[in-house]
Amino acid sequence: MSKRRTFIQQLAMLVPVIPVWKILEFKDKSATKPITIATWDSGVEVNEAAWTVLSDGGKAIDAVEKGANFIENTINCCVGLGGNPDRDGFVTLDACIMDDKYNCGSVAFLQNIRNPISVARKIMETTPHVMLVGDGAKKFALSQGFKIEGKRLSKQAQKEYKNWLKTSQYKPTVNIEQTQSSKSKVPARLQDGSYNHDTMGIVAMDQNGDLSGACTTSGMGFKMHGRVGDSPIIGAGLYVDNAIGAATSSGQGEEVIRICGTHTVVEMMRLGKSPEEACRIAVERIVLINPEKARLFQVGFLALNKQGEYGAYAIQPGFNYAVKSNKDDGVIFKSDSYFK
Ligand code: ASP
Repeated sequence: MSKRRTFIQQLAMLVPVIPVWKILEFKDKSATKPITIATWDSGVEVNEAAWTVLSDGGKAIDAVEKGANFIENTINCCVGLGGNPDRDGFVTLDACIMDDKYNCGSVAFLQNIRNPISVARKIMETTPHVMLVGDGAKKFALSQGFKIEGKRLSKQAQKEYKNWLKTSQYKPTVNIEQTQSSKSKVPARLQDGSYNHDTMGIVAMDQNGDLSGACTTSGMGFKMHGRVGDSPIIGAGLYVDNAIGAATSSGQGEEVIRICGTHTVVEMMRLGKSPEEACRIAVERIVLINPEKARLFQVGFLALNKQGEYGAYAIQPGFNYAVKSNKDDGVIFKSDSYFK
């Protein structure tokens, strides 16, 4: 390969194509269908991928899979094979997907397969089960034509792991999104072309008004080998009830599992709460278990109801999410939070 081409390719990594976007704190949070919303700043590009399906009249389930695949295929700390490993140096992936008819599929502790969300969808569509884990999940994936990949850690993960090994201490990190104010123009990607964010959750409503969602992650970095978080658990990391709404979460999975987080959010919407109120109630339920402890970790919920209204709430400031609809083109919102 010519030096010039290599140089241009390297340059392309440094100057990612960023859609026009802005951060809004106060705005009418509703849209007409179709609509897609996704966690974190990187959700802008996740939504773009999902939009290629939605704008063409495609189904929400295909859109959320496409959005999830997009982020799984990029190098970042927290989703896909490029993510940070567990304490023993293994990248283990968790993901789940749910459609508008209560069909759901989930995969946990999956290694060396690039697109866990697509494996989850295959489980949903071709097996009598909802969830497969570990070697069984991998065996199933291989039988479906998925390939073994990612035997080595990404460069970024190698660096992070080496750093972590210096102390080998496990402490939950409070995730604060890079972009903190509307004046900041920090792009969705870091300078080396990688993302810095957390679990990716996406919920979408298609032209038909049907809802679906997907959630995908490499889990908490430096977790115990075998640990599974909220992200592949239906009702914790993701829940969809096509009559009511859909919700997803990001953050300290153990705390989300404890309160069946996204199921709680959807149930609150069923009782008439707005998406943001429903997320706030779920966050408060976590915080009130132990308010002092809750200062040490982050959980953010994101929800969309059947009317196209959306909203989020987090424990700590710094939980952003992105929205794409015919009305909102690459908009990033800052979620309100329990601690200010
Ligand atoms: N929810 C993920 C987990 O607990 C990680 C995260 O979003 O920070 O595995």
